[in-house]
Amino acid sequence: MPTNPVLVVHGGAWDIPDAMVEAHLAGVRNAAAAGWRALERGGSALDAVEEAIVIMEDDETFDAGRGSFLNRDGKVQLDAFIMDGSTLRGGGVGCVERLRNPVRAARKILSDSPHVYFVAEGAERFAAEHGIALCRNEDLVIPREVARLRQYQAQASADGNSNTDGNDLFAPAHDMLSHDTVGAVALDRNGNIAASTSTGGTLNKAPGRLGDSSLIGCGCYADNQSAAASTTGWGEPIMKLVLAKWAADRVASGSLPEWVAKEAMNYLKQRLNGHGGIILLDAQGRYGIAHNTPRMAWALRSTQKQEAGIQRNS
Ligand code: ASP
Repeated sequence: MPTNPVLVVHGGAWDIPDAMVEAHLAGVRNAAAAGWRALERGGSALDAVEEAIVIMEDDETFDAGRGSFLNRDGKVQLDAFIMDGSTLRGGGVGCVERLRNPVRAARKILSDSPHVYFVAEGAERFAAEHGIALCRNEDLVIPREVARLRQYQAQASADGNSNTDGNDLFAPAHDMLSHDTVGAVALDRNGNIAASTSTGGTLNKAPGRLGDSSLIGCGCYADNQSAAASTTGWGEPIMKLVLAKWAADRVASGSLPEWVAKEAMNYLKQRLNGHGGIILLDAQGRYGIAHNTPRMAWALRSTQKQEAGIQRNS
């Protein structure tokens, strides 16, 4: 008997200002609509998460694709991962600078390569060899982010701290920052689940710094026997806890995704004073949406429901 599809997306977890709420909600709604169209066409969960992520990578509201945060050198450097819960195949790219939609390259790695990861120029070369057009890094940079980086670096040097890149020693600085990474989890008609996460990482990161988002089991995971998960937030604590896999394992042990998502956020806070958000979905269509930040943009589609929000914590 066919399964009823479900799709959940997020567009980052932080103290999203009131003025940015509408853009975030519109972005996650559009992404959910694109992923849902794929599922309605009979597409796989993988297709659905890929299509949802592409919409958010193309939307400058989010820290993914064009419009992402800039690294210390003023460049966009992107990480993405996609995983198929039915085969455990995954594809990831890290530190790519010339791909508009890193998730497309990640999907190609998943489907056409025996490997799981390609990074930097090697990833770009793999993408080009597989028919994905490369762009210039400048095509991914927008004036808003140039101004944001300048302001951040000026503030950091005024504070006498010129090296605030992604290091836990500077946790208070990160608490102030935005986290607009995007993610999606889906269940298709055949009962398969998939997950994907895509990011520009953290503002002013050191060139070459890889966050949690593209790391298997940290920012993203999918296994039909446990759950599909995508996380967002300050990446270093999330990767130290291998948080997506931590959450999926608890679902496999019989806990409900709704409860596990909240527990994952408690664990992140209590163990490493980390902050962020998570979406979690199992192969029965049970899901959890949780964050320990003031807000997280999310949207949900199922045969019964079509919802989006920015505050919910269950
Ligand atoms: N987790 C991402 C990173 O640290 C950032 C985010 O979620 O916004 O690269």
